[in-house]
Amino acid sequence: MSAVEPSLIERIIRDDVRAMGAYHVADSHGLIKLDAMENPYQLPAPLREQLGKRLAEVALNRYPVPTSEALRARLKHVMDVPAGMEILLGNGSDEIISMLALAVARPGAKVMAPVPGFVMYAMSAQFTGLEFVGVPLRADFTLDRAAMLAAMAEHKPAVIYLAYPNNPTGTLFDEQDMEAIVRAAQGEVCHSLVVVDEAYQPFAQHSWMPRLPEFGNLLVMRTVSKLGLAGIRLGYLAGDPAWLAQIDKVRPPYNVNVLTEATALFVLEHVDVLDEQAAQLRAQRASVAAAMAAHPGVTVFPSAGNFLLVRVPDAARIFDRLLARKVLIKNVSKMHPLLANCLRVTVSTPEENAQFLEAFAASLQD
Ligand SMILES: *Cc1c(COP(=O)(O)O)cnc(C)c1O
Repeated sequence: MSAVEPSLIERIIRDDVRAMGAYHVADSHGLIKLDAMENPYQLPAPLREQLGKRLAEVALNRYPVPTSEALRARLKHVMDVPAGMEILLGNGSDEIISMLALAVARPGAKVMAPVPGFVMYAMSAQFTGLEFVGVPLRADFTLDRAAMLAAMAEHKPAVIYLAYPNNPTGTLFDEQDMEAIVRAAQGEVCHSLVVVDEAYQPFAQHSWMPRLPEFGNLLVMRTVSKLGLAGIRLGYLAGDPAWLAQIDKVRPPYNVNVLTEATALFVLEHVDVLDEQAAQLRAQRASVAAAMAAHPGVTVFPSAGNFLLVRVPDAARIFDRLLARKVLIKNVSKMHPLLANCLRVTVSTPEENAQFLEAFAASLQD
């Protein structure tokens, strides 16, 4: 029996927090794990050995250098951050989203994003007392420019997130629609910071990074997670130093640990390996999409990420049948009405994709 009085918890913990469900991570033990957009490939064995030696040298007894100077310089170079722009590091881009929320959380301030979209935009807003405004995409998951502009005029959000491509839909929003939103947010319709979330950039091969210097209200956020380093937790925000200097003030000073920093520095010396893996996954994405779409009653949506959104006749049933065949994907059909009967599947190795496709075909049958 717990010695904790439930009434004391009620007295102390916020009502909205008590009412929440915990962030659910499915148990994937013994399953083919295609639910979280992880890169299925590990580093080649010789590189892992070298990395092990490198990590053995790390001074674990010391705090990280708070600004992670060396890693920031390396990232700016490898990721083609335009001259004059800076980057700020986060413990995953999830932490950057939290920092942005903290930095703008005035009473009454709002955060806006198209929906269905990435859940952390809404969650971080709730945690910091911001109002989240979700603007529905069109039924084909393209950006509804008119609806966005109208919502911007009505709500005057402090921050607008545009995931490029979007999760869970995989949609690469139209660049002109996005530009119209960025421009309208420069004062004509509202005054908002627009954060383009490029978590899937290695699979999209389109980026707003080169255009950063054109817009004084634009930031570009990326992560190494989907590229193959989800375990080290490293994200970054690129933009004008004037913005980043403010957001940096709410950053926990030692948020990027020394092992993450050393690992990232090492892997960035071998970024060609990750780029090659991303290229394989892009090729696999096309063949998995074609194979799924060949089944009657199945619609596969165009994706620029390392995952595919697919509509099936009965999502809950197919999800369960796949699980019975030891394949774990994500049932997103309850996330938003536009996602009715939709499943999201991560693209993996040719072997795992073949196993998935076989299980998928069988699951549609029974
Ligand atoms: C996965 C994901 C992130 C979070 O990435 P981390 O760096 O692992 O925290 C951010 N945005 C989108 C759209 C994502 O899908």
